[in-house]
Formats: sequence, structure tokens, C-alpha cells
Amino acid sequence: MPAINIHITGIVQGVGFRPFAYNLAQHFSLTGWVKNSASGVEIIAEGEAEALDGFVAHLQVETPPLAVIDTFSVEAVSAAGYSQFAIIRSEASEGQFQPIPPDVSICPDCLREMNEPSDRRYRYPFINCTNCGPRFTIIKDIPYDRPATTMAAFEMCPECRAEYENPANRRFHAQPVACPTCGPRIWLEQPSQGAAQYFILGDDALLRAQSLLAEGKILAIKGLGGFHLACDALNVRAVDELRRRKRRVEKPFALMMPDVPTIERHCFVSPEERALLQSPARPIVLLRRRPESRVALDVAPGQQTLGVMLPYTPLHYLLFDGKPHQALVMTSGNLSDEPICTDNIEARERLAALADAFLMHDREIHIRVDDSVMRVVEGPDSPIYPLRRSRGYAPYPVHLPWKIPPVLAVGAELKNTFCVTHDDYAFLSQHIGDLENYEALKAFEEGVAHFEKLFRVRPAALACDLHPNYLATRYAHQRAKRESLPIFEIQHHHAHLAALMAEQGLDGSRPVLGVAFDGSGYGEDGALWGGEFLLADYAGFQRLAHLNYFPLPGGDLATRRPARIALGLLHALGLDWDEALPPHADLCYEDRTAILSQIEHKINTPLTSSIGRLFDAAAALSGVKQQINYEAQAAMEFEALADPDEDGLYPFEIGAQINPKPAIEALVADVRAGTSASTISARFHNGLARMVLESCRKLGDDLDVSEVALSGGVWQNMFLLRKTLALLEKNGFTVYLHHHVPANDGGLALGQAVVAGKKLLEAEK
Ligand code: ZN
Ligand code: ZN
Ligand code: FE
Repeated sequence: MPAINIHITGIVQGVGFRPFAYNLAQHFSLTGWVKNSASGVEIIAEGEAEALDGFVAHLQVETPPLAVIDTFSVEAVSAAGYSQFAIIRSEASEGQFQPIPPDVSICPDCLREMNEPSDRRYRYPFINCTNCGPRFTIIKDIPYDRPATTMAAFEMCPECRAEYENPANRRFHAQPVACPTCGPRIWLEQPSQGAAQYFILGDDALLRAQSLLAEGKILAIKGLGGFHLACDALNVRAVDELRRRKRRVEKPFALMMPDVPTIERHCFVSPEERALLQSPARPIVLLRRRPESRVALDVAPGQQTLGVMLPYTPLHYLLFDGKPHQALVMTSGNLSDEPICTDNIEARERLAALADAFLMHDREIHIRVDDSVMRVVEGPDSPIYPLRRSRGYAPYPVHLPWKIPPVLAVGAELKNTFCVTHDDYAFLSQHIGDLENYEALKAFEEGVAHFEKLFRVRPAALACDLHPNYLATRYAHQRAKRESLPIFEIQHHHAHLAALMAEQGLDGSRPVLGVAFDGSGYGEDGALWGGEFLLADYAGFQRLAHLNYFPLPGGDLATRRPARIALGLLHALGLDWDEALPPHADLCYEDRTAILSQIEHKINTPLTSSIGRLFDAAAALSGVKQQINYEAQAAMEFEALADPDEDGLYPFEIGAQINPKPAIEALVADVRAGTSASTISARFHNGLARMVLESCRKLGDDLDVSEVALSGGVWQNMFLLRKTLALLEKNGFTVYLHHHVPANDGGLALGQAVVAGKKLLEAEK
């Protein structure tokens, strides 16, 4: 009798792979066994040759929804004469590690059961199965088994245990399995006058939560990866009150709506966007707002998009139950700039001044995970474009083209994520946030420790940014010193491009023409780079061309005051500034004199080649924005205005030094002539896209390179991305875009890790 040994790696543990193989083996009348192995799932199957073929074919195509197969190998072995097919227990061994599934939304089967009055889990907010529910946020250690999760606190009742132990049941080995008898519960807490609180349990808590929201109150709701702050998104006063309490002035809030038809009342939704909204990861998707939507304008001031997600936990669905057409603001439960709150006791303290009531539960969140943000690039293939990769995606690894030594890459300052590598996997962390305060740094350090434990990584080297003042860079240097580890400082834009190459699976045998357009990243000469054309592979890069340097008078202050950047730019280009230009009016006489003196004496005035800062200047000159209160706000509002039907463009001078003078001159002339900001914005965008094409043509011809990689935060500008992509493709370039990790600094750590890994490999040779 023929027999085979099958070995499968990827996300194949904790996703129902063994019962799936078991049932398939029964179907084909095979004998043998299946077990979790050190690196995946191992199967021995014996039977007729045809049955074995069918088994192997179906194993690869009918995989459980959460499984992701990375490798699948089959070899013939001699038969041992098994009499049946069994699921056997695996022995844990030292150093073994496993990719862990991300948290995913409730599945259709569970949703159906939850709405079925005769079901024992009718209206139960923690219903889940092998195909859905919490994973990453509840796992404390591997192997992924109930005792190693925050569900260990709940002892299964006999009914749940029977389901858990039955391979034919869809809750076989679903670690978070629970029911109203044995599982977590919800309640509502409402701080009243004085110290007394009152508590409402179960369904009544939900009803009370719904009526509080309807009254315009703000609720703290404990979710999957942390607390949300929620309010009625159609209620202007509630939205403004939430902004005031959260101290978040204008940065857009995310929304949750109960179903796709409701979303379609407020936004335009393409088939690809609909699929992304409904995918098990349930990210926030940026959608174009319908002009007639009654969602409060203060939800996303100055934007033409809304960030919307569907409910993803059973609790969310119950919250919307009987309330069709509702739209809730669902923003992370924190004060601006602090990490999202996860713990009940901590929440009562930190969110007391923010929320009118708390919808709580007693399932502990082990690791905080924020919502992901994605968008779909309009165009022929409608690719998915990640802006924040977190819940539903992390910690699923990027599969690298080769094995690299274990590295910890610490990422950048804003939108921080970090990355650890093990063999040919790069585990990019969930969104940590802006590393600008003690709380965020603490969350970062906890996250790093958790990843190293979970994926059995002991770093052989550290990787960080060149910027000496990033908190992450300082952490890396301190740790390298403490543990006597080599440390690699990776130039910011090289890391951006390497991240893109790695996620696209490029093996690095050919360099790419990298266009790194960014807010700013520390350059090798100490200037703030961000308008770079680099010939890059994993091992290194050559700086081929860049935007001419211009001064940033006031440094960090300038990034919050685009008016300063505008005046700095005009001064550098030798263009006149006077009261006819909007930034002039925004700065008082003393400010303007101080700025001039700063520039002339080079006091706190770094030089930059940043396209992000060029956008700030353009937005200020067009009168769109002189002061901002969140990163890239001016550029985003400038983009939102751009007229899609305008074909005119502002020309740049191409060369190793790209001179923006003709473009800015033309822009200023338009401003003086009273041309609309909408036309000016389009012409500026069109000019940049043309500049990229012409630079790539020239550099590509010189070097015989036709592969272009677009990375860096500026490429989140969809108007610019679409125009540039179309021009490059029309002219025969192969263009790489981000699909798996963000083009912004949220993807940077992946690039740092692969570059450092490559350098370690070279050093070993
Ligand atoms: Zn389910
Ligand atoms: Zn139970
Ligand atoms: Fe960057």
C-alpha cells in the first residue's frame, strides 16, 4: 500500500487545519495521522494511489478560511499499516515557533447562530469558532493552546468542552470557545455623581448603551484589541464634544456602520472596496464621501473621504441590532498621542474624563492592537493599499526570499512598528503609534518583548534609523550596548525601498530605481531627505538625484507651520514674497523678520529635499493651510481639492539636482492671478508626476533599469499615485507599489530588518 508524508508550513496551527485534514482523510478512506509539528503540520497518509492524489489536491485548495500555506511538500514513505486515521497530540520542543493568526471578524456561521433564538449562544457577545474570533490579542505564549491564552481564566462547561473535543464539530480546538454559561460577560458602568457607580449586566447593558448613544453620549467600549470611544456620528454636538475631550482638534475619526447598504448611503463603494470592507480582517477603508451624507462634517474636516469599517465582533453586531442606518464614531480609546487603552482598571482611570459610560467585558486583552486602515487604488487592478497595518493583519509575517539571521528592527518615530525575523519570516508588529512619550515607548518595549517570546527570536543584531534623536534609535543603541550586539543604522529611504522590495518578494538580484517621496528622513549628510531617486537593492543604494535643498526655518516648528516653509522655499528660490501671498499674512512682522534671520544665519534651520515639505509650501502658498495639527494635514487637504479634469502642470527642472523653481514660480503667478486652489493643486500634482516620469526616463536610460519602486509616505497621496503610475506604465516601466505594508513609516521596520539581515549574511561570507 502506498504511503506519503506531507509537511505544510505557514499559518496552519490554531486555524482548524487538523480536523480539516482528518475529515478529508475520512472522505478518501485513508489511514495514518495528522499532528502539529515544530514548523507546521505533518501528515502520514496511507491508501490507494488515486485516493492519496485526491487527498493531496484537496488539502491545498479547500483550506480552512484562516489558514495560509507557505510551503507544501510531499514525499513517499514506506507504509506502517495504520488501521485508522487519527489526530495525534504533538510534543512541544525547544526553539519551535509558529506564525500566529491575526484576530478576525465573526464568521457568517457564528453570526447566524447568534441571531437564532433557539441557539444556546443566542445574543452571546463572545460567540466564536475555529474560523473566527480573537487570536493574537489573547495569546500569551506558544504553543497556541487554551492555557496559554487569556481564556484560561474561563473553565469550559461540559457542552463547550464536548464541542471543543469533537473533530467533527466546527469548534474543535477553537481556543476561545465560550458560551453564556462558562464564558466572558459584558456589563455597563456609569460613573454617577460622587464615587458611586452603577452596573447593568448582559442584554440590559446593551440596551442602555444604545440609548446613551442615541442621547448623544460618549461611550468607552471594550473591543478586541483595546477600547474604542464611540458616539453618534450624525450628531454634531456629540462629535465636537468627543474632539474636545480627546484633545484631538481636526484629525479624522473612524466610523463603524452596521452593513454595506448603510455605508453606501454615506459613501461611494466600489466592488473591490466592498470586498475589502467585508474581508475577515475588517479594516477601516477610506471611501469617498457622498455629498449628501449626513455624517457630521467635523468627523473628517477638510477631507472628501470617510474612514469606515463594518462591525467585527459579536458585541459590535449586537450594538447595532435594531438600529439600522446608524453610524458610530469609533476612535481609539485614549487621549491624543497616547497608546490605546486595554485594561479595565486602567480604562476607568485614563478614560474617566472622556467617556460618559463604559461598556466592559472580562475577557482580558493581552496585547493591544488598533484598527487597520486600508484603501483601494482606483484603476485597472484596484490594488489594496495599506495605510496602517494592524488588527486583522499583524502578526502575519512577510515571507522573505531567503533565510536571514534573527534581527530586531525598531522602526521610526511616527506610526512606529517594529520587526523581528526568524528564518525566512519577517514578523512586522501591529501599529504602535508615535514614539514621542513615555507611554508609547513602554508599549513599544512590551511589544518587542512579546514578539521575541512568541516567535522565539533572540536577536543576533539590531537595526535602526540613522536619526540620532528617535526614541527607537536610542532604545536600539542602549540594547546593542547592553547585549554586545552589532547594530546597523539604515538610511530611512533605503529602508522604505527595501520594505517594498521585500513585501513584493523581489530577490534583490537586480537593483530597482527607487522613488522615495516622504515627509522626512535623516540623510547621510545630516540633511532631511525626502525627494530621492535611489538605485537600490538590499545591500545598499546610490543616490542618483534629489530635490534641491531648501531651508526649514525653525525645524520642527516649521513642520507645524507650513507658512514658514513657504517663505523659506521662496527665499531659497530667490522669489519675492509680499502681502499678496497667503503665508505672508499668516505670519506677523516679528515672525517674518525672525524667519529671515534664522535662514540667513542658519539657526535651527535644517536643509531638506522633502517632497512632503514641498507639498506643505504649495498648500500654504495656495492659501489652503498655514498651520496644521496632525502630520501631513496640509498636504491631505491640498490633495482633496485637486481638480481631476485639469490637465495643466507646473514644470520642474530635471537633473541630479531637481529644481522646483519653475514650478513654484508658475504656482505663485497663478496665486497672484487669482486662480482657484483646486486648479493650482491639480497643476502641482500633475507637475510632480511628470517630474517623476522624466527623471525615471533619464536615469533608467543611463543605467538600463526599467523597474521603478514607489515608497515613502507621500505615495499615500492617491491623486499623485494614480497620475504617476499611469504615466510610468504608459512609458514601459514596471512599477512596484505597496500592497502588504504601508508606504509610510509604518512599513519601515521591515526594510530595516531585511537590509540588516543582508549585511549580516555578507559579513558571514
Ligand atoms: Zn465562527
Ligand atoms: Zn460553555
Ligand atoms: Fe518615511
